Amino acid sequence: MDPRETHHDSHGDCDHERESIIKEDRKDYFCVDVPELTDEENKANEKFLKIRDELLSDGKLPFLDEYYDSLPVISQSKLYEKLQKMPKGGHLHLHLTASCKIDFLMELSKEDCVYYNEKENKFKIFVDLEPEEGYIKSSEMRENWNKEGTFDEFIRSKILLNEKDLSSKHSSTIWSNFQWKFDLTFDLYNYEKFMEKIILQVMLDSINEKVFVLEFRHIFGCVFNDKHVVVSLQDEIAMFERCLEKAREVEPSFSCRLISCGLKIVGDGHINTQLECCLQGMKETNIIAGYDLVCEEDITPPLTKYKKLIQAAQENSETPLNIYLHAGETCCRDNENLYDAIQMGTKRIGHGFAILNHPHLIDIAREKQICLEVCPVSNLILGYTFDLRWHPAKSLMHRGVPITISADDPGFWNTYGVSLDYCYASLAWDLNLRELKQLAINGIKHAALTDCEKEKQREKFDEEWSKWIEHMNTED
Ligand SMILES: [Zn+2]
Repeated sequence: MDPRETHHDSHGDCDHERESIIKEDRKDYFCVDVPELTDEENKANEKFLKIRDELLSDGKLPFLDEYYDSLPVISQSKLYEKLQKMPKGGHLHLHLTASCKIDFLMELSKEDCVYYNEKENKFKIFVDLEPEEGYIKSSEMRENWNKEGTFDEFIRSKILLNEKDLSSKHSSTIWSNFQWKFDLTFDLYNYEKFMEKIILQVMLDSINEKVFVLEFRHIFGCVFNDKHVVVSLQDEIAMFERCLEKAREVEPSFSCRLISCGLKIVGDGHINTQLECCLQGMKETNIIAGYDLVCEEDITPPLTKYKKLIQAAQENSETPLNIYLHAGETCCRDNENLYDAIQMGTKRIGHGFAILNHPHLIDIAREKQICLEVCPVSNLILGYTFDLRWHPAKSLMHRGVPITISADDPGFWNTYGVSLDYCYASLAWDLNLRELKQLAINGIKHAALTDCEKEKQREKFDEEWSKWIEHMNTED
């Protein structure tokens, strides 16, 4: 019925009808776990919205500015400070080899075993082996640098997606400026002694920003030792477990899972090896949650190509092999990966914003509670959206599709953790504390944890949330 065609005897009817339209429109409203805010929370919410709106005063919309113009404004704001301290449940989509703070990586690059090749634009580690031709100790390069700026400035702008890298509005062009940076920093991340430091640092940073469930996307079989020999799967898993133990000394409730990733760009052999590592690892530890396929979606083969491979692995696996697939990170109308990801039984969807083009899939995601791991800053940086206000996440949230907030590859855009993503989301999507609380709770509900672990995480979250509300109401 078109409400404009109805006639009313009184304002009472009209109000009643308006209310029922709003009620119907919001029936799938995503705050199912936060039916209402307490008085204390409402007080904190008022203060929060005031702090948020300070960034929007005089008609400013910082999330519309160039990323590197808005980054200092947002990351040094009171909003960032408050959201950094807000408990955020789980951070479920973070690629390990893109997770490290740039300053931490720069410090590692100063160590004696680090070499750089200007022609190849690549770091390499040589400990027991002689350096390859063209590679010069980075400490020497730092000392003898005679080009513009310092060597460190040069390196930083190579590692980070810089303004020039981001100047295109075409996601594929930005990706081509992005993908090779994983090669540039490959040795810095994958040298076992460095990787262990990085993992621990990222875990501690997570604890510091009140993320107590962290899930890494990780590629097994790349970590190498002093002899540049790839370490065993057991050694690799042990490295994560040591870090987790250390992190738990700081925060006993901290938990971490790994999702093993196959790079579609490398090919079938690699995809298969990753699957084998994942299955083998799952027999030895419960730190591995499942499997994923990654790389730029628009230029790599569709998921259908790998369907049989994954199904066979699932059938042969003693323990259930869960999948957490990247899909729907695209603006191409003919991309069909979301159909396959859902049909294959993905537990969550990495990005998934293209689901907006698929009404039936939205229904399925809502019914089966398939959570979308939304990465607002990543989508902005990689050119999938230019105005975050119209990012599909906001509309999907209110259609009952579960959403969580993640950072994807923050180490390549001069940030770390997920607090910045919460800032952009709260600014662009006009989120209040009720909505932010639900997003955080979703990070626990949809984490790769057992029901018992989720229950404990939820208790911890509620405790931390109350503390944060009190902080909001008492501190400036
Ligand atoms: Zn990703």
